[in-house]
Amino acid sequence: MKKILSILLIIFWISCEKTNPNKLGKIASSFKENGNKIIEKSISDSSGFNRLAELCDTFGPRFSGSKNLEKALVWIMEEMQKDGLENVRAEEVMVPKWVRGAESAQMISPWKKNLAMLGLGGSIGTGKNGITADVIVVSNFDELTNRSNEVNGKIVLYNVPFESYGKTVQYRVRGAIEAAKYGAVASLVRSVGPFSMNTPHTGNSSYEKGIKKIPHAAITLEDAAMIGRIIANGQKVQINLNMEARTDPDVISHNVIGEIIGSDFPEQIIVMGGHIDSWDVGQGAMDDGGGCVAAWQALKVLKELNIRPKRTIRVVLWTNEENGLRGGNAYRDKYINELNNHILAIESDAGVFKPTGFGFTGPEESLKVLQDIGTLLKPIGSGIITKGGGGADIGPIMREGVPGMGLSVKGEKYFWYHHTSADTWDKLDRTEFNQCVASMAVMAYVVADMEIRLPR
Ligand SMILES: [Zn+2]
Repeated sequence: MKKILSILLIIFWISCEKTNPNKLGKIASSFKENGNKIIEKSISDSSGFNRLAELCDTFGPRFSGSKNLEKALVWIMEEMQKDGLENVRAEEVMVPKWVRGAESAQMISPWKKNLAMLGLGGSIGTGKNGITADVIVVSNFDELTNRSNEVNGKIVLYNVPFESYGKTVQYRVRGAIEAAKYGAVASLVRSVGPFSMNTPHTGNSSYEKGIKKIPHAAITLEDAAMIGRIIANGQKVQINLNMEARTDPDVISHNVIGEIIGSDFPEQIIVMGGHIDSWDVGQGAMDDGGGCVAAWQALKVLKELNIRPKRTIRVVLWTNEENGLRGGNAYRDKYINELNNHILAIESDAGVFKPTGFGFTGPEESLKVLQDIGTLLKPIGSGIITKGGGGADIGPIMREGVPGMGLSVKGEKYFWYHHTSADTWDKLDRTEFNQCVASMAVMAYVVADMEIRLPR
């Protein structure tokens, strides 16, 4: 009888949970009022979204080592000061300076076609006369190895369909190294993305000590697939590649910081942000201007609501994620002795699309706390906290033991635009952006203000 009763009780409890999907967690309940206020304000105030347009349109892409980037940083600090953020400052970081220069690619046989292309970050140039050579197409590194005796003197084209960014990006990163091992004179990748409107995608690439450097560039999905078909049909393809790309000495850039200082434990920090540098094409609106402005706007919302949490919330806009990660590394080095008091690091760098929640890396008991807090975000559908997550810029401090989380978004379209001329503000949605702001503001605020210190 007792057993039956307890089973009935459990069923009753489960059905209650189901009929009450907006039930708040234990911690969340005590933040209901402010949580709702923050969500309401974030959703109804589009000043952040408009500011992202102003950032994109006024300064253009913000590539490491460019004047655009440094001018944008000065403007951001002025605006942060106007917002009343505290301890607004810039911290020097030496960053690499890669210069694209003029570049072009042309298929010259079997027929003439200008190929839309983008040199890959870090690549060397081709020299004044360019490189003209026959193309060998491979669909993966194994095929390259198997056909290594056919590679000498040719341009290797990696015609690899997009599986996932993590999987496919290796051809962009290591393509020149592997091709050069067998005597290729240059290498091309099919752009890393699932969809294309003749848009080439740039991104970083590397060389290896002891292996000859060869020029490395991306062509479009359409052209790579076509060249693959032409060669499969038994015709030869010849390409002429011209790139002025070069690497200049390192220059000074900056991480930019703004805070709301904690009322009770100012030395305890919740750090939140994105990377303010972008590639040198498009506007870097989603990668990662959107993440930066969303984190900044989250702080502005708290400020305007007069909410000062117990702990400090620090927004950091890291420099040089794209081709060096120098900003994230410099932040770790500068604050290495204060990382014990870094309670949580939050990054948004997957686009500011419809948010679903956060991915978290840290102890199980902290995951439970964050899932509890996540119940506050159910009304806007961004309350799901999953295991595993972070971001490139917070990676260095996470490796020192700081728990980290990344904003999760419905990012099906992110890699349509990623690192292309089409990464522009017009692709973004006001409501989705505002929901990202709300999610980051609520999460940072509650972790900064709750009674317990998030366990690590
Ligand atoms: Zn990014």
